[in-house]
Amino acid sequence: KCHNELVSLKGNIRVFCRVRPVCEGEQDSAENMVSFDPEDDALLYLSNKGKLMTFELDKVFHPQATQEEVFQEVQSLVTSCIDGFNVCIFAYGQTGSGKTYTMEGTPMDSGINQRALILLFSEVTEKAPDWDYKITVSMVEIYNESLRNLLGDNQGERLDIKMNPDGSGQLYVPGLTDFTVKSPEDINQVFELGHMNRSTACTNLNEHSSRSHALLIITVAGFNSSTGHRTQGKLNLVDLAGSERISKSGAEGSRLREAQCINKSLSALGDVINALRSRHAHVPFRNSRLTYLLSDSLSGDSKTLMMVQISPLVSNMSESVCSLKFAQRVR
Ligand code: ADP
Ligand code: MG
Repeated sequence: KCHNELVSLKGNIRVFCRVRPVCEGEQDSAENMVSFDPEDDALLYLSNKGKLMTFELDKVFHPQATQEEVFQEVQSLVTSCIDGFNVCIFAYGQTGSGKTYTMEGTPMDSGINQRALILLFSEVTEKAPDWDYKITVSMVEIYNESLRNLLGDNQGERLDIKMNPDGSGQLYVPGLTDFTVKSPEDINQVFELGHMNRSTACTNLNEHSSRSHALLIITVAGFNSSTGHRTQGKLNLVDLAGSERISKSGAEGSRLREAQCINKSLSALGDVINALRSRHAHVPFRNSRLTYLLSDSLSGDSKTLMMVQISPLVSNMSESVCSLKFAQRVR
């Protein structure tokens, strides 16, 4: 049994890459530095200072890939939490590379978060009549290694991660709101509330969100009334803080602390995935709040998808290389 578990674990970490299009007004600064393989959608090429670098991933999305196409590729991962799997989907990349576009999307074209919740809600309503499901949603922000509840009125509070005293090893966060989704209208409401709460405490939402991790945690609990069988799965959708390196000399005070916290948690995430992938006995979950909070959704037979976001601009080249190196480290 143990052996099978380990084998399946390796197959449970996927790394995708999405290259965003060149936006209006940026035209001049991108000149074919990113290219794709017409035969193999797992390959990405970067031309860096005259050298061609090849990166192999599990799948690469072109700049023209639609939100719908991206969602199609993650759909089965999303619905596996109905069967009791724990799943994590991360968007990783420098600020401006399209993380929020992929996860949240725009009001006109929603991203993975909204599509996932809508799909889960409709799937469980259509399930066999003897199954009863409850979907709950939490939203958390992690900024400077502290947790904030985005769906309650305790914005000023800094939340703790606690171990359930029942010996199950399960973690819980006292004070974190669990919003029960009872209708499709609730879905919109939950996103509006989360967005509003996230933006109120800060003067510049874009800047703030690039320095904090935003987590949407969806729990799907099933109960079969004829067999008494229970399932519980969790889907964690994470818009990570920007991965760009901040020059140590330039940053000071609060800016430096932010940079250190981001750096610490992103490298902790890389270390954890790498340890899981290499089957290390010790997985350093406790090195950051992010990895500790997600530890039960990263270990065991959980499934993880890292969506590495790439900007096509020449000026972003060195960060793109860094992001792809991160991708190769966890793959
Ligand atoms: P990040 O969250 O990584 O900082 P954003 O998601 O905010 O980056 O994306 C930066 C800009 O690029 C935004 O204006 C966004 O709408 C646009 N953008 C990102 N990805 C895409 C895409 N695939 N198609 C169209 N526009 C995109
Ligand atoms: Mg963003």
